[in-house]
Amino acid sequence: MSVKENLKDIRTKIPSNVRLVAVSKTMPVAALQEAYQTGQRHFGENKVQEITQKHDVMPGDIQWHFIGHLQTNKVKFIVPFVALIESVDSLKLLREIHKQGKKIDRNINCLLQFHIAEEETKFGLDLNEAKELLEAIHKENLDFVTICGVMGMATYTDDSEQIRKEFRHLKETFHWLKETHFKQRVEFKEISMGMSGDYMLAIEEGSTNVRIGSNIFGIRTYV
Ligand SMILES: *Cc1c(COP(=O)(O)O)cnc(C)c1O
Repeated sequence: MSVKENLKDIRTKIPSNVRLVAVSKTMPVAALQEAYQTGQRHFGENKVQEITQKHDVMPGDIQWHFIGHLQTNKVKFIVPFVALIESVDSLKLLREIHKQGKKIDRNINCLLQFHIAEEETKFGLDLNEAKELLEAIHKENLDFVTICGVMGMATYTDDSEQIRKEFRHLKETFHWLKETHFKQRVEFKEISMGMSGDYMLAIEEGSTNVRIGSNIFGIRTYV
């Protein structure tokens, strides 16, 4: 099936209150253009150089989501245009995002990435690290970052109960943070979870933002 057909099919499965981010990492610009022509406006990328190059050639009304591990020395390249950095996993990174945002007077929307999977390799915060980070935002006046919610990746497994458990854990973390740190903050509303293999489960468990790559663009030949 074509990118257009895949998107059409996926959109019928996603409720209107859940945002679809088309994860276009490693895909050529032509594939993104095909998605754009169907009305797709949210795209996700995980490499700084790639997101920057694609941003330069694609239409200006695209909302670019950065979803990969972000090195502090590269923050400055995406801060001028990124719509949402979904993968904030350290205070050091958050401080740098604030600093670069302040320089150009642009508020940067961020999600806190939590480690919810069993796998050791996946990045993300635990609750204690998140608490520390939130205290620092307050103490250090990191007011050029806006925390809009949480993001997480479940274990890569066929065990749907395991996946469900991990998504539930992320949702509970979101609600706990909402209650304790963001009660008055309307912008703290996103639970980014669900990829090609598990987005229906994620939606059932309360996802507001699914990040889908291979189901739209086909299998990637490299990471
Ligand atoms: C690659 C990636 C996705 C999309 O993965 P698919 O399985 O191709 O849908 C989603 N989220 C993150 C963080 C990714 O790196």
